[in-house]
Amino acid sequence: MTGTDAAASYQTLRGHLAYLKLTRAEELLAAHLEAARAQQLSHVAFLEALLGEEVASTRERRHRARLRFAHFPVEKRLADFDFDFQPSVDRALVEELATLAFLDAGTHTLFMGPPGVGKTHLAIGLGHEVVAAGYRVYYTTAADLVAAMHTAFLEGAWTQKLRFYTAPSLLVVDELGYLPMDRRGAHALFQVVDRRNQAGNSICLTTNRSFASWGEIFEDDAVAAAILDRLLGNAVVINIRGESYRMRTHRRLLEETRKGVITKT
Ligand code: ADP
Ligand code: MG
Repeated sequence: MTGTDAAASYQTLRGHLAYLKLTRAEELLAAHLEAARAQQLSHVAFLEALLGEEVASTRERRHRARLRFAHFPVEKRLADFDFDFQPSVDRALVEELATLAFLDAGTHTLFMGPPGVGKTHLAIGLGHEVVAAGYRVYYTTAADLVAAMHTAFLEGAWTQKLRFYTAPSLLVVDELGYLPMDRRGAHALFQVVDRRNQAGNSICLTTNRSFASWGEIFEDDAVAAAILDRLLGNAVVINIRGESYRMRTHRRLLEETRKGVITKT
């Protein structure tokens, strides 16, 4: 092959990569060709390295897109959870959840407990693991879910919205019970829970209310029982009975302030 032929070939190859939208491979083509020549790589090794870069960049881009879609309100990781501070959280159980076997089994996860004990942290941390493994996750508070379903109802898009909440591999429903829910809201939540349950898609729910008081959240015992029935048929319940992590910090600051005041006088 003459130098001109080789140059034309190279340009055509770049054109192919661009046409196929293999942007990263196109960017790195020249560098990889040079490295392949210098290291006398085989054709297979050259192609493997070049396409490997493309795969890595696509994987990264898709991961970022899934994270945007999930729209977690804060950045929380299971790795940052201090299990020693919260002994009522079974570390082995959380580690078992992190293997994501629960997704295949369609098992729901319920984090229960008073404010500040790490329910949202654990739910989002688990969500991150699911996103990292390549699955779709959607985060919502219970109140936002109900409001969105109501808007969809008014706009004639109820079924579509129901499908939207049913589709992701994991739906995180945070903060059930902080705000009371009217009958219509409770019905919307029931529909979402029921659909996901039927589809074998997991829900990760957090609540500050014990199951016995779910009737009060919904102002309707029957729908509370129906929602609980769907969730508890196949669920891991993590009941956190500890102290608030935030209060721990507040308390320490208070004590330090108090000590400071004492030494001054
Ligand atoms: P909840 O949802 O139960 O009200 P959060 O998950 O929002 O509580 O926790 C409150 C704050 O304390 C968050 O910033 C969270 O990251 C942190 N936190 C709670 N428990 C722990 C823990 N055991 N280890 C590390 N951080 C924690
Ligand atoms: Mg919370």
